[in-house]
Amino acid sequence: MSETKLKKDFAQKDVQRLRNLVQGKYGDKTSIASGYTKEQVDRVEGEVWEEDERTWTIKNGIKQTVSKLQKAREIHKTPLFCPECSTIMNHRYDKEFYNIHTRCFNCQVSFETNLKATGQWEEYQKEIHNSEIDNTIQNYEIWVDDLINGTNEGFVSETGEVESWSKGNTKNIVKQKEEAIEYLNSLRK
Ligand SMILES: [Zn+2]
Repeated sequence: MSETKLKKDFAQKDVQRLRNLVQGKYGDKTSIASGYTKEQVDRVEGEVWEEDERTWTIKNGIKQTVSKLQKAREIHKTPLFCPECSTIMNHRYDKEFYNIHTRCFNCQVSFETNLKATGQWEEYQKEIHNSEIDNTIQNYEIWVDDLINGTNEGFVSETGEVESWSKGNTKNIVKQKEEAIEYLNSLRK
């Protein structure tokens, strides 16, 4: 996948999103077509909303889905007691560990020790690695599908001109999408 090809297939609004990202204008409004109505809704960095039965947010200027884990984190925050051992979470790493593993530092350490002792550690690491790839593929697919289905305003060519959208371009994007997903799948363990 060449960089020029990628650039060519970006829609104008996506170029703007990336421009915001590069310029660090995270707080800038990103105009997004909402659902099937194609109505333009202004969203700001960090905003979370429901659309097409998914939860979306703007992170670093780019529209993306919020994973279930992230959502759970936002809803529950850090409780006073560890849900597994019911002790008060006052260890210096408890908050950080709870955010990632939803258990206290001590519980996570014994969980990992147990995995290692029972020979399941590698499998566990593999699972984490593969679920990260799944998540990346899912977000990428949604983004590309959104590009294809939600845009008919043309795209920016290498020379910076806005060219009109055609079926030929869609074919290219779908091909690139498949190549990218194939690559991501090859990273699986
Ligand atoms: Zn605990």
